Amino acid sequence: MHVTGARPNFPKAAPVLEALRGRVNQVLVHTGQHYDDRLSRVFFDELGLPEPDIDLGAGSGSHAAQTAAVMVGLEEVFTRQRPDLVVVYGDINSTLAATLVAAKLLIPVAHVEAGLRSFDMTMPEEVNRRVTDQLSDLLLVTSADAVGHLAREGVPADRIHFTGNPMIDTLVKHLDRFDEAAARARHGLTGDYLVATLHRPANVDDPAAVARLVAMLHEVAGRMPVVIPLHPRGRAGLEAAGLSSSTGIVVCEPLPYSAFLGLVRGAAAVLTDSGGVQEEATVLGVPCLTMRPNTERPVTITHGTNRLVTVEGVPAALDQVLGAPAPVRPAPPERRPPLWDGAAGRRIAEVIITWLDSRTPVTLPKEPASQVVSG
Ligand code: UDP
Repeated sequence: MHVTGARPNFPKAAPVLEALRGRVNQVLVHTGQHYDDRLSRVFFDELGLPEPDIDLGAGSGSHAAQTAAVMVGLEEVFTRQRPDLVVVYGDINSTLAATLVAAKLLIPVAHVEAGLRSFDMTMPEEVNRRVTDQLSDLLLVTSADAVGHLAREGVPADRIHFTGNPMIDTLVKHLDRFDEAAARARHGLTGDYLVATLHRPANVDDPAAVARLVAMLHEVAGRMPVVIPLHPRGRAGLEAAGLSSSTGIVVCEPLPYSAFLGLVRGAAAVLTDSGGVQEEATVLGVPCLTMRPNTERPVTITHGTNRLVTVEGVPAALDQVLGAPAPVRPAPPERRPPLWDGAAGRRIAEVIITWLDSRTPVTLPKEPASQVVSG
């Protein structure tokens, strides 16, 4: 049973479901953590994900309210269907919720994209990753540094599998659809342009941080247009701070997958605080300035195009990046991070099938754990 809930999950889950198709019975649960069609429905159609078998419609809320709503919904589903394995993706609240519920029902968990660490506990995603990894039985890892983090946290080596990056499978599969010319036409772009994505709380929640961000974007928009497919999170604050008031700023709705990556593919550089975009820019060979003090994806710096910058440091970093020799686009396979090769979904499927074939059946308690809630 695969549990997905939000935009960053879908490009990771699609190759895993595809590689397992016809080999095991699969059930896809969508928790509805992202319910906006532009962050959810559009990805199912485009990435060839099957229609979810179960849609919990959990929706938004505070971290506690959202995690709790997903947990209540999943407890009922897991108790009724008793999957042999729950597969969770990434670091969102639904990932954590599914893992907690499965662990208490003694249902094993496989975590795709395990072991990433920013070591920044102010990021809710870091909390979700750490707890999920502690409770998972199969830890499917996208980069070698993650293996070390898990080992240091005491995860037994036989649970950890370096299978590569399934999000890059999706990127490689759809590369021919990333149409730079169509993206230019759609957004009225003729010369060089930048793409920006922003949604992390540290950048878009605090009004003073938002004001600094908007001032920086206006400054760089004086140099070349900045196209911003704006995430609903933070939109009101950015607009209230005057984001759209500069003619060089092109704000649009969140884009479907190929339209977004077509836009990124043609950009002079990307400014972002996203996790996934750092990885995609690395493989597309597009310079990436990440407006965060840390990254859980250091391989995008050591093997890719990524640099960490402060918001104030973006204009100077941009000067350096645009003045340096341009990276090859897309990055040739031998220059990409190890196992970012388009075959991670197949390796993950092999690990899961081998595990299913070799597992020792779990003896269930007489009463399901879900009903024993005393104390
Ligand atoms: N993405 C998209 N359209 C957009 C912005 C992003 O299709 O307008 C995709 C892109 O593939 C990215 C993924 O959504 O990697 C997840 O991005 P997001 O920044 O929402 O999540 P994060 O990776 O930061 O958790």
